[in-house]
Amino acid sequence: MTNNFLKITMLALVIFAIAASGCTGDQTGDTIEETEEIPLYYVGTEPTFPPFEYTDETGEIIGFDIDLIKAIAADQGFEVEIQPIGFDALIPALQGGNIDIAASGMTITEEREKEVDFSAPYINAGLALAVAADNDEILGVDDLQGKIAAVQVGTTGSMKAHELLDAGILSEVKEFSTVDVVMMELISGGADVVINDLPVTEAYIKQQPGKIKIVDDKLTSESYGFAVKEGNKELLDMINTGLQNVIADGTYDELLAKYFG
Ligand code: GLN
Repeated sequence: MTNNFLKITMLALVIFAIAASGCTGDQTGDTIEETEEIPLYYVGTEPTFPPFEYTDETGEIIGFDIDLIKAIAADQGFEVEIQPIGFDALIPALQGGNIDIAASGMTITEEREKEVDFSAPYINAGLALAVAADNDEILGVDDLQGKIAAVQVGTTGSMKAHELLDAGILSEVKEFSTVDVVMMELISGGADVVINDLPVTEAYIKQQPGKIKIVDDKLTSESYGFAVKEGNKELLDMINTGLQNVIADGTYDELLAKYFG
């Protein structure tokens, strides 16, 4: 009886001691061993895609996707390092293990599903047609006969443009690695039309009012997901659970208001 009582008391003391040392560590910040255990994941992104990912005046990469993956990381107890990378290089970088997560306004498509694993969709978007502000000729896809399109390489906008090229509608598709250059090509008259994600084209219009206009915003409906290397279930589960949690606790809505409000 006494023996058992002693054992239980000892056990309680040990548990208390462990808990107390944990608390002390947190309070003093003396948690060197603990911080070493926080996993670090490399997040690849193509940062000419406002408001999802872009650079501020200091050169830091910010945006909805960046804040969202950071919130998910904080919720799930991992750290992220953001790495700028070409959009068409994201999937090869995941496959080659150079990055762990792609957070880059990436549309979940059947083709990409064969190459990487996607999180649950975290936002809906879709492609829009944009032309120079003074273009009164192109009102929609039906007016693209013989026209030149500018797109970002490796994107769903590029795929759509190639469909229209193969169908003998567009006469040429010009591919650029960043969206800022795509928009410059349209403004300078090197292309007649841009096929790009609607919220992003809207962000460029806000930056440079009066130069570009949207003429057809219903080309496609698409959902963005975070991508990981095929089979990386552990990381994907954390991303999905973290996403659910930051939606439930209101963080997600705060980010929507911050970037789209
Ligand atoms: N959503 C588009 C795609 O996945 C464009 C993404 C981007 O340019 N960052 O292809």
